[in-house]
Amino acid sequence: MPRCAVTRRLHFNAAHRLHTPRLSDAENARVFGVCNNPNFHGHNYNLDVTVEGEIDPVTGYVLDINELKHRVETVLVRYLDHKNLNLDVPWFRDVNPTAENIAVVCWRVLAPAVAPARLTRIRLWETERNYVDYHGSDDGS
Ligand SMILES: [Zn+2]
Repeated sequence: MPRCAVTRRLHFNAAHRLHTPRLSDAENARVFGVCNNPNFHGHNYNLDVTVEGEIDPVTGYVLDINELKHRVETVLVRYLDHKNLNLDVPWFRDVNPTAENIAVVCWRVLAPAVAPARLTRIRLWETERNYVDYHGSDDGS
C-alpha cells in the first residue's frame, strides 16, 4: 500500500514568559529578551501536525483530516488556547515554554492520539518567521 504524509494546521493563542530558575534575573533578561517580560505576553501560534500511514484502499485517506483536527483540538488545543502557559497549563509547570518545549509537549500528547496513523512531525510557528520542528526522540517520547 502506498504511504502518505498528511498535515493539518491548527491555531491557538497563548501567553507565556520565558524564564528559568537556573539563571539569574539578569541572565534571563539577556537570554530571553522581551519574552522574559515579568507580566507575560502573547503569541498567535500555528501548529502543523503531520501524520503518516498507508492510504486506505476504500476511503483513499490515511486518516480523515477532519477527524485528525477533532482529535488534536480535543486532547491538546483546548488546553492551550487562550491560556497562560506558565500559570494555567500543568504541562509547563516545570518546563520553560519555549517553542521547542511546546513542540515536545505537543508531540507527547498527540503521539498516542493519531492511530492508526503515526505522528511524524510537529511544526510549531511562534511568529510568521520563526518555527521549530520536532520529530520525536529516539526513545519514542
Ligand atoms: Zn514569547
